[in-house]
Amino acid sequence: MQPIGKIARVAEDIYQLKLPVPLPLRFVSVYLISGGEGWTLVDTGYDYPPTYEVWKSGASALGIDLENDVARILVTHFHPDHIGGSRWLQERTGAPVYLLEPEIENARRVWGEGSGAQPFVEALKRHGMPPEIAREAAAGMRSGLDLPELMLPLRAGEKLDLGGLAPRIIPAPGHADHQFMLHDEARGILFAADQVLLEITPNIGLWPESESRPLARYLESLNSLRGLDADLVLPGHGPVFHDLAGRAAEISRHHDERLGEMQAVLDNGAKAPYAVSQMAFRGTLTLFQRCFALAETLAHLDHLELQGRAVRRAGEPVTYQSRQLDVHAQPGL
Ligand SMILES: [Zn+2]
Repeated sequence: MQPIGKIARVAEDIYQLKLPVPLPLRFVSVYLISGGEGWTLVDTGYDYPPTYEVWKSGASALGIDLENDVARILVTHFHPDHIGGSRWLQERTGAPVYLLEPEIENARRVWGEGSGAQPFVEALKRHGMPPEIAREAAAGMRSGLDLPELMLPLRAGEKLDLGGLAPRIIPAPGHADHQFMLHDEARGILFAADQVLLEITPNIGLWPESESRPLARYLESLNSLRGLDADLVLPGHGPVFHDLAGRAAEISRHHDERLGEMQAVLDNGAKAPYAVSQMAFRGTLTLFQRCFALAETLAHLDHLELQGRAVRRAGEPVTYQSRQLDVHAQPGL
């Protein structure tokens, strides 16, 4: 495994570049694929200067002229460590930027001018986060991002011709509503984006902008991956790996355990999601990590409700309670 900032060949015609990110994840892996009418870039990194330095040094290590040799830029999802560098790369290379069609609108809504942090603050507060923490977190997490002027749509199921690689676009919801993966069946290669990672579990969150039931959609996607022909998995973070079905099963079990733990918290009485998140995610968390913990907790509470194990009560704040403790939910009362 190459260090952060360096490039490595991971398969014929496919290179992995580790871009630094100013987040606890430390790096995001982007991919460069040669073939066809030029290079294809998969993901772009976080919008800050070290990203661009590494793009320049990584490209020159492979003899790529960024101005002339890039045919297309594929962005797997709207998160800032994946889409953040797309405007810089688009301007530098002149290559078109592609996302799954509904993700284009989603990215503009979340990062565009006037999107504002206020609805985000309100949502955090409604779920029990103290107002001053919510305001500070929102200012950092929803401060806007310069996106490419033009982003072009990819469609689910579409097959791309990248020369030596002919991957199909597979939607991968849950971590982001309109994330996609690239799967080359003949070569058994999966570009997994952030859907299946080896040493960490992807964040599955119910965010203010999320579509409903993210954990259900994620678990369904994981399940469908078990039958996929892929013995080389190229993820957005962490090491490259091989046992896709095994890792998918492990992550699925992790969520079952999480659901059980959160149900146990609710069995001791109704609670706001923020209070549940503080019990489920212990240790010292940064401000942003507390937001991720809250969103992840909400996704699980929402799933418990879907499974008929918990009841959501609207209010300020919203609370969840165990189905067993909910007198209204019992027949005959
Ligand atoms: Zn992500």
